[in-house]
Order: sequence, then structure tokens, then C-alpha cells
Amino acid sequence: MPQSQETRKDLSFTMSLRAFVSQQVVTPQGVRPAALLVESQQIQEVVAPDKIPTRAEVQDFGELAMLPGLIDSHAHINEPGRTDWEGFATATRAAAAGGYTLLVDMPLNCLPPTTNVAALEAKRYAARGQCHVDWMAWGGVVADNPTDIEPLAKAGVPGFKCFLVHPGIDGFTMVTEPQLRAALPHVARTGLPLLVHSELPGPIEAATKNLAGADWTLYNTYLQSRPEEAELSAIHLLLSLCREYKFRLHIVHLSAASALPELRAARAEGLPITVETCPHYLHLDAETISDGATLFKCAPPIRSRTNCDLLWQALRDRTVDLVATDHSPCPPEMKRLAEGNFQTAWGGIASLSLALPLMHAEASKRGFTLTDIARWMAEGPATLAGCQERKGQLAAGYDADFVVFDPVAEFVVSTDRLFYRHPVSPYLGEKLRGLVKATYLRGTLVFNGEFPGVPMGQEFHKL
Ligand SMILES: [Zn+2]
Repeated sequence: MPQSQETRKDLSFTMSLRAFVSQQVVTPQGVRPAALLVESQQIQEVVAPDKIPTRAEVQDFGELAMLPGLIDSHAHINEPGRTDWEGFATATRAAAAGGYTLLVDMPLNCLPPTTNVAALEAKRYAARGQCHVDWMAWGGVVADNPTDIEPLAKAGVPGFKCFLVHPGIDGFTMVTEPQLRAALPHVARTGLPLLVHSELPGPIEAATKNLAGADWTLYNTYLQSRPEEAELSAIHLLLSLCREYKFRLHIVHLSAASALPELRAARAEGLPITVETCPHYLHLDAETISDGATLFKCAPPIRSRTNCDLLWQALRDRTVDLVATDHSPCPPEMKRLAEGNFQTAWGGIASLSLALPLMHAEASKRGFTLTDIARWMAEGPATLAGCQERKGQLAAGYDADFVVFDPVAEFVVSTDRLFYRHPVSPYLGEKLRGLVKATYLRGTLVFNGEFPGVPMGQEFHKL
């Protein structure tokens, strides 16, 4: 096939050019037959299949889809310090199996929490040599570290995370409004986003008081203990602080759809906000969670089917920008499975290895395409984490991170497909549509049912 003179000249110096071809390449412009020309770990060009240079080594995936490597901007890796819960090796293995090529680690559950530069350095040391995908780490904003915020930014965190309510674990403190106000000028100066767990304690405490003597093995008791009002009041406060301090605000794991009108109004007003929700809020509903089924406990809680439908509408009208997993595993005994007590069980759902099939199964039923999934699960999180110029798209100049995905294959979720440390999941036994066949990190195969090669994941740094 003829090639343009320009293509011939640009590629003439290389001997290691590879072409990855598919009839369904998911680009920002839509799904089309294309070839990624890859060299030196990067996509040099995306061309039509009949424009592949003759000297390229070709790998043809046929009808299997190629999506950009997914980016999870909300993962709890828990290392160092709680590696018996999860760790870099196991979380990044689950990530590679799920089509993820970059994780951004939350600053809590690990010990020390990532609330100063020394803790960030400890995390970097812990991660060395064991990651199957690339990673970054959010810094923490806690009750007493405003002077650590700008040093953490200089040291390379892409943004910060804080809690307006007790995070359910010691070692990472929530912030009160005065403490948040002390931190916000520092956050605003960095220009980086502040990710906020948006529930206020007041409505939760009031609701819990009213539940004295209630049966905590009932899902409905747990649901009533975390009312939508906790999210609404937190988001209302945050939007007013965003107006006042002009920082980039990101609402993590939105569950309460009743907050959407105020978020839409804030967007219309031009406030610098972004919003995330999670696969469990989009795939599950309170009506079908059995009593005692503490595997489904997370905070904020999974709400009604109507609420779920409204979250999907918000993805459609782009009030919700992105989907992150909030992968938050723990040892199985902490889920209190025997007693089924929603009050004492750990809140968190691990889903790195399943998020893409979960989202695909649900999104395709609702008329969305793989382009939408790439926007929610690659491009959106890349923009939040500030790596959008090298990660999150299949386009020239981007890292050759991609996932080979069979959109029609079905499988039943079993423990041998989870790959994180403890094979515990609310999705076990569920039949899903859409299978990750292979994951490539910077041009190298890192998952094909197994994990070939040595772990080559690195911390992502801007050039
Ligand atoms: Zn989380």
C-alpha cells in the first residue's frame, strides 16, 4: 500500500516499529478500524489499517476492541503499612487484569498516610519493582497539615484528598470546616484539585441516633444511617467554599442523585468542579441487596434503583465526569460475613479487575458506547490527575497503554478472576458481558490471562 512521504520519513530511522490493529479502535473521535503505530513506548501515529508501514511488526486483534488503558483515579492500595489488606503487587495485578494501566492511590489506609513528603517518599520506596501498571499518589489534607500541602505538590502529587466525615479508620483525620478553611488557600495556590469525601457528620449522627435499637443486619438500617442529606449538605458547603477560595473541587463517589441539581447549577455558574461516581452505584441497587450481605457495604451507600437511573442520566448530560472504582479491599474477616452486621463491617468494595465488564454490561444496555466508557474511565480521570497529555487516549504522542477487549464474550465472576489480595467480592457468581483479553503498558504486554514479564509499572511523572 502506498504511504505518504511524510510517514515514510518519520518512521525511517526505526527498526522496532510495531503496529497494533483492530476493527474497533476507540479514539476520541469515535470507534473505527485503525492501527496504532508504536515505538519507544509511545503511540507515534494512529493510521488506517491500509497505511501500516511495511517494515512494522503487525499484531492484528481483528474484531476485538482496543480501548485506551483505563485510569483509576480512586484506588486504595494500602501499602506501606496495611499490605495484609492490599498492596502494590496485588492491586496493580488486579488493575492489569481489569484493563487499567494507571492507578492513583488514595492517601489513607496506608501507614503512614500520605500527608507529608516523607510519607510520599516511603510510598515510592515501597512501590519499587512490584507494580504491574503505572501509578501516582494523591496527597492527604488532614486536620493539622496545611504547611505540608505545597511541599507535597512540589514533590509531585497530582492533587489532594480530604474527608468531611470520619474515614472509618485511624491514622487519617477528617477536617472540620475551620480546618478546611485553613488548608484551602494552600490548595488553591497549587492549582491542583482537592478530592473530597462529601458527607457531613451531622445528618449521619442524627439518623444513627434515631436508629437506636435497630437491627443492623438489615441493609435498610445501614441505608437510613447514611441519609442523602449528609451528601447534600457537604456538597452545598463545598460549593460555597469553592466560590470563596477558587480551588478545583472534585466530588468523589457521588451516590445521592438529589445533589445533581445543585451540581448542575454550579457548573452553569462556571465553578471549577468535577464529579465522579463508581460502578457499584451504577450497577447495583438497594432493592436487591440482601439483609446481612455486608459485601455490599460502602460509604456513601448504594441507594435505590431510581437513584441509580438518575446517576446514569447525569453521565449522559455530563454532570458526572468520570467513573472510578473506589477499590477498597480489606481482609475478609473485617466484612463480618458470619454475623452480617452492617454497623461493624468494613465499608469498601474492591472492583479493579471487574469495573470494565461491569460498566460495559450496564452502559451498553442503556445505549452508551465504548467511546463513552473511554471518556469516563480513561480520559476523565487522566484530566483530573493532570496526566491527560500522555495518558487516557489512543492518539499520537500518548503512551502506548491500551486494553484489548471482547465486548460480546460472557463470563461468570469467579475468585480466580479477581487477582487482588483477598478474593472477596459482591459480584461473585454474576454473569457479565465483556472480557479483558490483554492489557499493554507502554507497548508491553502486561496481562493476557497471566502476567508475563517482570513488573514494569512506574510512578507517572510529568516530563
Ligand atoms: Zn475511597
